[in-house]
Amino acid sequence: MFQIPQGGLKSLPLNFVLQNLIEAKDRTSKETGTLCDKHSGKPLELYCFECKTNICVKCIAVSHQQHKFEDVDNISKDFAKQIQSDIEPFSYRISQFRESVRKVEMTKEKFLQTIEEMKNSVRQRGDEIKNLVDDHVAKLTEELNEVKERSVEEAETCVESIEVALAALESFQAYSLDIASKGSPCDITLSFNKLHTRAEELLKSHVITDDYCPPDVQFLPTEKLMKGGLHNIVGGLIVQHLLYVVFLTNCVTH
Ligand SMILES: [Zn+2]
Ligand SMILES: [Zn+2]
Repeated sequence: MFQIPQGGLKSLPLNFVLQNLIEAKDRTSKETGTLCDKHSGKPLELYCFECKTNICVKCIAVSHQQHKFEDVDNISKDFAKQIQSDIEPFSYRISQFRESVRKVEMTKEKFLQTIEEMKNSVRQRGDEIKNLVDDHVAKLTEELNEVKERSVEEAETCVESIEVALAALESFQAYSLDIASKGSPCDITLSFNKLHTRAEELLKSHVITDDYCPPDVQFLPTEKLMKGGLHNIVGGLIVQHLLYVVFLTNCVTH
């Protein structure tokens, strides 16, 4: 736009103000494209169908003589109608895309929920197995303790009977030695038969035997008990990737 000088309009000659107004109008017309850039001051009031562009009356004579043209104001109304009819199918197409986004979101949410449920199942199965393992460890420990206690008892019984025999043998040995070395000839002859028989009896009845024999205990880990072994005691996962096509879009997932 033209600038009004600080002194006001009155201080300038009238033709200067008019010139400014005309130039400003000209600039605005050129900016919005309504004046022909080939023919100064001529408005682009016609539309050429062959060249698909706006022209002025002077343009016709120069390069559009044989072309079909129409008044811009009239044809623009037809074109506006055509534009509107072109975008008519858009609202349905847009709603289809919105629906497809909603479907993807829904499927995703459902899938996430399934994963959460599966994680809970895996955790639950893990807890069950942990409890089972704890139970089995406790049972095996208890069995081993029972075997141990029984064996300790057997060993103690065995030692006790050996000690009884040992006491009998030692006391007879000491008594016999006493008689033989310190007894009077009469004592020796009087005791001889009794001691001799007793010595044979004691040697017969108190024989060293390997009475104590603890059981043979072996621990076999689970995998040795099962043919082929276990790769994962909790379980396995099968993940199948499906090739699916989302409605209207070519969203292919691998
Ligand atoms: Zn022109
Ligand atoms: Zn033309």
